[in-house]
Amino acid sequence: MSIRQNILNIRRNLPSGVSLICVSKYHTVQEILEAYEAGERDFGESRAQELEQKAKVLPNDIRWHFIGHLQRNKVKQVCKYACMIQSVDSERLLRCIDQNATPLTDLLLEVHIAKEDTKTGLQPHELFSLLQNIGRTPLKNTRICGLMGMASQTDDNKQIALEFASLHSLFDKVKTEYFPDDNSFATLSMGMSDDYPIAIAQGATMIRTGSLIFAQDE
Ligand SMILES: *Cc1c(COP(=O)(O)O)cnc(C)c1O
Repeated sequence: MSIRQNILNIRRNLPSGVSLICVSKYHTVQEILEAYEAGERDFGESRAQELEQKAKVLPNDIRWHFIGHLQRNKVKQVCKYACMIQSVDSERLLRCIDQNATPLTDLLLEVHIAKEDTKTGLQPHELFSLLQNIGRTPLKNTRICGLMGMASQTDDNKQIALEFASLHSLFDKVKTEYFPDDNSFATLSMGMSDDYPIAIAQGATMIRTGSLIFAQDE
């Protein structure tokens, strides 16, 4: 199936209020243009170099989301192109982005919800201490718009649902305690090609699918 058809299939199952990020890492400029021509504007990349190479040649109205592990020495490069960085997983990284973000960059805090310890992200207690510190020393050039997480890679759908549910309840808690009057804290980014229907059922407001869009059987 074509990229356009893959997108139509996903969009058909997407409730209103859930946005779609086309994860284009490892895929070519030509493939991204096909998705662009099908109407998509939000794309996700996980490497600074690859993001820069693509952003330089692709249309200006693409909104780039950075979703990979970000090293501080790549922050400047990423801030130049990304409208949102979804993979903020430490306070050091957060402060570094805040110093380099021009213009304003939107952020999601990445939370570790999977059982495997290979996946990155803040532990819940780290998330709350980071939020306390922001209360004391506010951010200047960035704003926190929500949370992002990845579930375990498993066939156990119940396990995946539990992990997404735990991220949703953390989101509600953070919203109530730290952003009660802040309408920009509204994004719960969870769900990938293999588990996005479960994520939507558990309250995702944004999903990030790559292989489901760009995998084409000839
Ligand atoms: C690669 C990646 C995705 C997309 O994964 P697919 O399985 O191809 O849909 C989503 N989120 C993050 C953080 C990723 O690294």
